[in-house]
Amino acid sequence: MNTPSSRSQTTSQRKTPSMCQHQPTCPTADSPDREAAHTVAHHPEQGWSLLCNGVLLFEDTGELLPDGQIIAPHRPLSHRLVTAA
Ligand SMILES: [Zn+2]
Repeated sequence: MNTPSSRSQTTSQRKTPSMCQHQPTCPTADSPDREAAHTVAHHPEQGWSLLCNGVLLFEDTGELLPDGQIIAPHRPLSHRLVTAA
């Protein structure tokens, strides 16, 4: 069980931006499913929510990814069905 070979360095410091504790884990910001992540902060008065995976989700369905990438609003309320084939 114990490995005596290496001294234990700083234990739980990881550089991953995602610290998801959910089960099952939330989709990452890279995932097309990213909006399915849990909301960890919700600011309706400012029109945005922060998701567990670090994505900022705006009221108009625009998104700001943790790496600075911007996703244009895609408005699921629209009549048209967008088929992702
Ligand atoms: Zn999560």
